[in-house]
Amino acid sequence: MLQLLGPTRIRFMDHFEEPPHAIVYAPGRVNLMGEHTDYQEGFVLPVAINRYVVIALHQAPGAQSRWFTSSSLRPVTFDISNPDAGKDTWARYGVGVAHQFIKAGHAIDDTRAFVESNIPVGAGLSSSAALTCAFAVYYNEITQAKYDALTLAKMAQAGENEFAGVPCGLMDPLAVLGGEAGCAMFIDLRDPGHYHSVKLPEGFSIVVCDTGIRHDLGSGDYAKRTAESAAAAKALGKPMLRDVTLGDVEAAKSQLGDVPYRRARHVVSENKRTALMANALLKQDLASIGGLMKESHLSQSHDYEVSCQEADTMAEICWAAEGCIGARLTGGGFGGSLVAIIRSEAFPQFSAEVSERYLGQTGKQAKVLQCAAVNGAGFTRDLGTEPPHIEPHVRFRKTLFPLAEYTYPTAWSGLSDGLL
Ligand code: ADP
Ligand code: MG
Repeated sequence: MLQLLGPTRIRFMDHFEEPPHAIVYAPGRVNLMGEHTDYQEGFVLPVAINRYVVIALHQAPGAQSRWFTSSSLRPVTFDISNPDAGKDTWARYGVGVAHQFIKAGHAIDDTRAFVESNIPVGAGLSSSAALTCAFAVYYNEITQAKYDALTLAKMAQAGENEFAGVPCGLMDPLAVLGGEAGCAMFIDLRDPGHYHSVKLPEGFSIVVCDTGIRHDLGSGDYAKRTAESAAAAKALGKPMLRDVTLGDVEAAKSQLGDVPYRRARHVVSENKRTALMANALLKQDLASIGGLMKESHLSQSHDYEVSCQEADTMAEICWAAEGCIGARLTGGGFGGSLVAIIRSEAFPQFSAEVSERYLGQTGKQAKVLQCAAVNGAGFTRDLGTEPPHIEPHVRFRKTLFPLAEYTYPTAWSGLSDGLL
């Protein structure tokens, strides 16, 4: 991210002929396990990664907001107080967050902004939450509201839900704001104010394999899955699929019907895999890591139907590739990326092999990115010649993941009920 700060500041000055008064940054994230579980109050295991959205800003009271992004030549211009500000543009993600602060009674000025990013967009690495969380950090600092980590994550989520029209869950902003260097975050969405830290094994790398297929989560597929999960929970007589065991799902198979049965089976089994994956990472149990990731991919593909042909092809290629411990679809799905865990020294060979085979089998270019687990979003005013002062803007309370198997707190209801 440090290498993006300088260029972002320069691009801001090119456009506005003055230096920014603040720079905020937020990482993307990759989820190691627990897909489409967050909106059913389940478990997730994300990692903030060393790809960032960086935004340089300056307040412009009395003028209109004028926001540039490096991914488009044209700025978006609007009055921030207008609920329709930035309509039908990328700026809705930032406006959505600004309006959460306005709703909470804060005065929000118009701003000049320049957005730079090296997170592939629409690739399942949460460029959208990086954008909302960077704005959330900015407004939290500038208003001196001092909202805590969970409140800020909820504001970022609400901004995306209400203004970008994507009914995304809470995992992405939690990971983007709360990421911890070298660790994955095991989060119980029923109690999201803190997380269980899972140290990642040394000598292994998290690798993102971007299929190049782009989802459009606003197109309705994502919303359809959230509705199907809610309907399955209701049919099972439980508030959330989190409260359901695999035994419940099997017992209700004929009553549920095929599609609701498979949707429920994915979410419930994925919760179990997430807890097992955290354990397997801590114990460096490579066989379990690989098996769980494969099972998760197949469950997303067959039961939850959020994969696509290219992602399935990529999975097969990764599973067979040199140095690969495991691989699965990550993020919202319908294209996007796979996450693989590989032996670090095998990266050059893994990358070459995956790219070549994927091109051969699909005719499409893959992007293979080696990622590091990093800290969450931050803010800096220290600009110009001084080295910037960089540290996470908010911190979540954390505890270590409870390694001992079968001793999960009873509050993790699905797991204490014979699931493991
Ligand atoms: P992702 O998996 O990357 O989060 P989404 O579809 O949820 O995919 O979000 C992508 C959208 O976020 C883009 O279409 C754009 O509106 C917005 N976005 C992400 N990064 C940027 C950026 N650097 N500049 C402008 N808009 C961005
Ligand atoms: Mg997104």
